[in-house]
Amino acid sequence: MPIRRDDRDRYVEVELRRGEEPLWLRCGSCGELVFRRKLQENSYICPRCGAYFFLTAEERIAALVDEGSFEDLTLPLESDDPLSFSDRKPYADRLKEARGSTGLSDAVVVGRGRIEGRKVILAVMDFRFIGGSMGIVAGEQLAFAMERAVEERVPFLFVVASGGARVQEGVLSLLQMAKTVAARERLAEAGVPYIAVLTYPSTGGVMASLASLADVTLAEQGALIGFAGPRVIQQTTGEKPPPGFQRARYALEHGLVDGVVPREGLRQELARLLRVLEGVPSG
Ligand SMILES: [Zn+2]
Repeated sequence: MPIRRDDRDRYVEVELRRGEEPLWLRCGSCGELVFRRKLQENSYICPRCGAYFFLTAEERIAALVDEGSFEDLTLPLESDDPLSFSDRKPYADRLKEARGSTGLSDAVVVGRGRIEGRKVILAVMDFRFIGGSMGIVAGEQLAFAMERAVEERVPFLFVVASGGARVQEGVLSLLQMAKTVAARERLAEAGVPYIAVLTYPSTGGVMASLASLADVTLAEQGALIGFAGPRVIQQTTGEKPPPGFQRARYALEHGLVDGVVPREGLRQELARLLRVLEGVPSG
């Protein structure tokens, strides 16, 4: 039996996986070596200490939707480095590396699927892709997903894992905040429900726009939720943030989210919500 903590606040960073998938993964929290298959069956929760492993978009989708129901709708788009940006490394190289290590074209995967039989259009972020940051392509994928949801009159589910805006695309990445919010407005006009699931981390420009505008907002237990990180806030205000600051439970107590759900219960909770929302007249 996994050890259950009341307020699980630890996520374990798994090294970016390249090429061959290792059979064993080491828990960064307790050091236990866990068989991948066993971890998979346990919702990527360490069976020894209960820490959560990061999920890729693919793993998250597999954990949420009915087997065999997922249909990938991600648009075949790639960022073309509009500012020819370079910091320690040219942005073009970062993109190439991220594409190579994740097999994704950008940080958002869009698709159609069913959760316990109920249809959803989902957009799932992959934190491995440049910190799940939202640039032009991610913004376009999100807007596209919401358009699909409106057209098909199917609830929109957004699973957030993001450090914020894609700084390498400058103001063009900030524009995505307005763009996704406008698309969200069309969902509201059409009376199509929007559910957000905030995971570790849900921060920056994504949290300051689309991620905080859902009809129902759930946080995965242990999620980090905020705009700037605690260190930046402390440096700016000169005050030490309170304990548990920006964690899922804190967000719940302060009204930012509607519920905190342990990872293993997320699918069931979403199914319940979709069932409830089905009965709500739209428009
Ligand atoms: Zn562990």
